[in-house]
Amino acid sequence: EGSSSLDVCEAVLCLLEDNPMFNAGKGAVFNEKGEHELDASIMDGSTMRCGAVAGVRTVKHPISLARKVMTETRHVLLAADGAERFAEIAGVERVDNSYFDTERRRRALDRLLLERQRTGSLVPQDRRLDYGTVGCVVLDQGGRLAAATSTGGMTAKKWGRVGDTPILGAGNYADSYAAISCTGTGEEFIRHAIARSVTARMAYGNQSLEEASSAVIHDVLKKDDGGLIAVDRDGNISTPFNSTGMYRATANSLGHFKVAIFDDE
Ligand code: ASP
Repeated sequence: EGSSSLDVCEAVLCLLEDNPMFNAGKGAVFNEKGEHELDASIMDGSTMRCGAVAGVRTVKHPISLARKVMTETRHVLLAADGAERFAEIAGVERVDNSYFDTERRRRALDRLLLERQRTGSLVPQDRRLDYGTVGCVVLDQGGRLAAATSTGGMTAKKWGRVGDTPILGAGNYADSYAAISCTGTGEEFIRHAIARSVTARMAYGNQSLEEASSAVIHDVLKKDDGGLIAVDRDGNISTPFNSTGMYRATANSLGHFKVAIFDDE
């Protein structure tokens, strides 16, 4: 209907942040101390403007605050207390940290802490506990690409831990080639600058979106690290992952509409 890619990204992410099924906003995972610290970022590929927040605790829609960092400050990333202070000034909706609680995530935390005690390993046996971030990538009628990503991070993460989601170029990125949003073990996506690598391969290596995004997920990352959703300036869509499944949906104005979890769907 002619909406801008940025507006669509923010609207879709607000819906997903409100849905307790996903690890973002309501339903976010717990950190090691039984609290929630949320990360989000948004990027406009047509202007390279971007905004992000990390470690926010009382912002109902972290993605909306990230967008305000983009539009109302000269900065890209605000974290923790400073981001909370900015939320006051920006006038976004605030909630108690316990608003984000869900029983399912509490059980996951308890299970993981027990497993840690038993095995001494910080890496969960069930790597699904590392996933659940939400993201949206859009190409609009004006040819503008945008990407947005929001997360509670990883279950039982250390307080103060910042993942890939608010790091532009790692977990989220958009430029004139493509828009990319990632999910998975954030540290790996930061290490390899995954989101930006996709468009760099397209720009410098002449790869297609499919070649570039498959290469970073299957050749650069390791099995079970995660996946990404991407759309390029021609409307090509790519959603590779190296985990067992990845909840995803794709649609375009020609009538394509698809919802899938596993590989063969
Ligand atoms: N990538 C997120 C993080 O590491 C986790 C996720 O995708 O669910 O914070």
